[in-house]
Amino acid sequence: MRFKNRFQRFMNHPAPANGRYKPTCYEHAANCYTHAFLIVPAIVGSALLHRLSDDCWEKITAWIYGMGLCALFIVSTVFHIVSWKKSHLRTVEHCFHMCDRMVIYFFIAASYAPWLNLRELGPLASHMRWFIWLMAAGGTIYVFLYHEKYKVVELFFYLTMGFSPALVVTSMNNTDGLQELAYGGLIYCLGVVFFKSDGIIPFAHAIWHLFVATAAAVHYYAIWKYLYRSPTDFIRHL
Ligand SMILES: [Zn+2]
Repeated sequence: MRFKNRFQRFMNHPAPANGRYKPTCYEHAANCYTHAFLIVPAIVGSALLHRLSDDCWEKITAWIYGMGLCALFIVSTVFHIVSWKKSHLRTVEHCFHMCDRMVIYFFIAASYAPWLNLRELGPLASHMRWFIWLMAAGGTIYVFLYHEKYKVVELFFYLTMGFSPALVVTSMNNTDGLQELAYGGLIYCLGVVFFKSDGIIPFAHAIWHLFVATAAAVHYYAIWKYLYRSPTDFIRHL
């Protein structure tokens, strides 16, 4: 109770069952800044992978992954700015909220793309290369039809999409980097606790953003180290 009183001005009451949580102005600011500061590093990181690419397929994959990474932080930042400063424009805010949710599906697909595209997979496992994009499209259609209606179902979809390609990835012959991939996944899962704690923990959504940023950084590091960088290439591209 004392905890709640002390942090009252930083946090509002939890959202009603089918409504959305209304962040305080402090939380709005934290939500914007925690992802806005990552836009430039995401663009630079994507450009670096593109530069380290040796062939066309690596280049295309760097584009796909880079676009997913940059889109996540850009769309999230724009949505949180609109939600903070233009919340009276209900329809616009609603559209951006839908985009914020849709981009997560594409970000998950893009995060797996380098592993699925650049590593050798078995005949059955290789179907995950296109299936993951089908799942992202399915998630997008779900957001169009049922946005904010069944929050548990939405969370279930995110987790299913996050975990199912991992089953394929673990069947690869070359398992370098899979430990980092698992660590990143674990950080996302821990972050979900905060994603679901608006109105219970002050700045819960901004903390969730930090978990996303950390997990994305771990995954980026693994992709850079195990799929793109090779000692000779690295020196050649410097
Ligand atoms: Zn957010």
